[in-house]
Amino acid sequence: MLSWFRKRTDSEVTLDTALWREATAPWLFMRGVSDADNERLRGLCGQFIARKHFSGTHDLEVTDRMQVEIAAQACILVLELGFEWYEGWSDVIVYPSQFAPEREEMDEDGVVHLTNDPMAGEAWLGGPVILSYEDVAMTGDEKARVAGYNVVIHEFAHKLDMRNGDPNGFPPLHPGMSPRDWKRFLGYAYDDFCRKVDDAELRFDDDDGDALAALPIDAYAAVSAGEFFAVTSEAFFETPELLEPSYPDLYEQLRLFYRQDPLARLSARRPGR
Ligand SMILES: [Zn+2]
Repeated sequence: MLSWFRKRTDSEVTLDTALWREATAPWLFMRGVSDADNERLRGLCGQFIARKHFSGTHDLEVTDRMQVEIAAQACILVLELGFEWYEGWSDVIVYPSQFAPEREEMDEDGVVHLTNDPMAGEAWLGGPVILSYEDVAMTGDEKARVAGYNVVIHEFAHKLDMRNGDPNGFPPLHPGMSPRDWKRFLGYAYDDFCRKVDDAELRFDDDDGDALAALPIDAYAAVSAGEFFAVTSEAFFETPELLEPSYPDLYEQLRLFYRQDPLARLSARRPGR
């Protein structure tokens, strides 16, 4: 197999320019990314691929291209934060499609149930990131794409959130950011969104789910504050034009955290980019 990678050092590989552009061009989050930022992202991906260990399950071969696809989507989150945000763990495990691990879960009454819900991805505290490749590929496929859905960004947002413990929607903030504002604005947006999801679910029988489909982000965000942070991170990068008008204060907090402004990139973008 022709390799995309030229090993530069033990800590970085260089990715072929033409193939890099081909692999990353279809993604919504690449819209308006400048040439200089594109180069920096490519460099970060080179570090990611050199330092993380990819493995496939069920005989899946994680090809060079698949590694680039996963690394690029993961690295857009840390473009302005630095690779060190992904240090302390090493494995990326790729399933061909969704997986259904058997788990014991305790309900509100303390009763333990065995569950095996299908999952598109999972991030472990101090451990691997696990992804369904079918879902990873969906993001890059214009026909299959659900706007804003990005399992890689989702799981790696959990990884950032886990820099200070269990994922609770409160990652370590930068100096100068106000934890009070973060809590307040994410809290307002989360409460408002949960109400909208409840309303949409109540109307489900009458409108065939139209109200749910019209929500600015995936209804899954209502599950917990941790999921809300991961899903709004997907929307921040993939569909900022939907997220910002709905929750401008939340968008601003994410802009301060990620140190990027994907909406401004969209407005500044040249035709055809
Ligand atoms: Zn999640």
